[in-house]
Amino acid sequence: MTVTDATNPVATDVPEHNPFESMLKRFDVAAEILGLDDGLYEILKTPEKELKVAIPIRMDDGSSKVFAGWRVQHNSCMGPCKGGIRYSPHVDVDEVRALAAWMTWKCAIVQVPFGGAKGGVRCSPRDLSLGEIERITRRYTAEISDIIGPDRDVPAPDMYTNEQVMAWIMDTYSMHQRHTVTSVVTGKPWGLGGSQGRKEATGRGLLTCVREAAKVKKLDLAGATVVVQGAGNVGGTIARLLHEVGVKVKAISDIDGTLIHEGGLDIPKVLKHVERNKTLAGYKEGDYNSGEDLLSMECDILIPSATENQITRANAERLRCQIIVEGANGPTTAGADPILDSKDIFVVPDILANAGGVVVSYFEWCQDRMGYFWDKRDVNVRLAKVMQKAFKNVLRRTKTYKVNMRVAAYMEGIDRVGYHTKMRGLYP
Ligand code: NAD
Repeated sequence: MTVTDATNPVATDVPEHNPFESMLKRFDVAAEILGLDDGLYEILKTPEKELKVAIPIRMDDGSSKVFAGWRVQHNSCMGPCKGGIRYSPHVDVDEVRALAAWMTWKCAIVQVPFGGAKGGVRCSPRDLSLGEIERITRRYTAEISDIIGPDRDVPAPDMYTNEQVMAWIMDTYSMHQRHTVTSVVTGKPWGLGGSQGRKEATGRGLLTCVREAAKVKKLDLAGATVVVQGAGNVGGTIARLLHEVGVKVKAISDIDGTLIHEGGLDIPKVLKHVERNKTLAGYKEGDYNSGEDLLSMECDILIPSATENQITRANAERLRCQIIVEGANGPTTAGADPILDSKDIFVVPDILANAGGVVVSYFEWCQDRMGYFWDKRDVNVRLAKVMQKAFKNVLRRTKTYKVNMRVAAYMEGIDRVGYHTKMRGLYP
């Protein structure tokens, strides 16, 4: 097995902005400490199935266009594959591969019986009409329908997809099956097979991690300051939940710019503005700046909740926070890890921090299959329990193996999937 020095998970030759390489870099470090044998190493790092599809669509102006889409199933050893679908102009197979692998480790860390998958369609949702997005969604679903299903692979929302997109996926799949199959997808609207609390689940899971991380760093949340990158489902929800418990959110950003108020932003008002205008731009209170370097602002807790490759070798040294809780998938490159360690920043990694979404997706899948729905309190109480337990398991490993939270989280995920792979054995 070719791996790097486990105590120093940096290598200058890592293609820093390739998310799959970034995933593999951490995988190698964890695999070496776990002592994975060569065979298991090869099995666990290799995606099981990759489907690329062409999505031809009639545009509103009568022309037609072909969009590219992917569905990658990384590992199904623990159960049906699970993972979101993102619509983004930059998505490519390496990004989807990395996201699928992260889902495998994430599901194992929170101990839900799912494997890892992810999907993506290369498109610019902000330049498309609702009708065009619906047609892309339905054709994409039809193209991947042979490999998805409640017992095979269950998609969910991710960047620029939402409850409406999930409802279209469910409807399209159901039309093909000739009966309604709610459990083919999670993150659906409530009443259509969706679960209470799913929409804010990733944010709620992050809140548990913020609380646990504050305990580790002996930080009193009552006087703490937070900076959030991203004002979408994940960023907007965690900003709101922290605001509700009295934490001062001094800055939040979206793809258009950064909104800052040193005294603390009125987050519910900010989010109403975003809901109405689809952007932070134009919000009147505080300073709005399209060029501000949000990540290097002084704060206690930084919550990157937008996209990959934000904290890198180039800017990690400039960060001025005590804790990072990763709402986004892959916001930190492998090259930045040792710099954050050297600054004694406590990082709750993506595969643990943002797992709340998949936990409640699992609850939704269970409810759909039972045809019996829980109330919001049940969902939130069970979610908090799962997240606390996962955090403690990972923290315990940091102490046992003298590694940071990211390496410990990878070890936790890989160890579980590895154990089950060995127990199942190889077919034939
Ligand atoms: P979203 O589409 O609801 O919101 C994305 C937000 O990020 C928007 O505010 C957008 O303007 C902003 N953004 C995009 N690029 C940016 C950039 N370069 N700089 C600053 N802001 C930028 O997406 P989401 O569902 O909130 O997902 C955000 C991240 O969280 C993604 O990495 C996603 O994979 C991850 N995630 C989402 C879920 C979920 O349940 N939705 C679960 C786990 C992880």
